Amino acid sequence: MKCIVCCEENNSLSNREDLEDQLVVIFFIQKFFESPLLVNSNNNNKKGGLVELLQSCGNPSEWVGFCGECTDIVRRAKGLYAQLTKIQSQLNKCRAQIEERAWQSLLKLKVVVDKKLSRKTEVVKRSLRQRIKSVRKGGTGEVDS
Ligand SMILES: [Zn+2]
Repeated sequence: MKCIVCCEENNSLSNREDLEDQLVVIFFIQKFFESPLLVNSNNNNKKGGLVELLQSCGNPSEWVGFCGECTDIVRRAKGLYAQLTKIQSQLNKCRAQIEERAWQSLLKLKVVVDKKLSRKTEVVKRSLRQRIKSVRKGGTGEVDS
């Protein structure tokens, strides 16, 4: 089978049931193709798109192959994506903690009047508090400026 990326002849995937090979192909299809191939034709049930492909075509590495170099690149991308997802999750936790702390401070009416703070800092603080209020009320966090 030719490499789906560069059309080199030698396929480095096992074509068998190696789970990692299947995951590499699934990652490639999901993250590098924003293709109608993956869109469910029938939204009423969960079938269609990738799920249907997997059910009807068997192991992904049997219908998509990569040469050695492209396999390395896609595997590296898959690893980076996993790291990115983990880091994004950590960032989201930090954001939630900051918003929670700011919210608690707001609840206690701990409005800091610090004369040393510049006017800019006060503006940032005020808009953060408005955003948090909006999010807590079920809004999007967008506030009028
Ligand atoms: Zn290739």
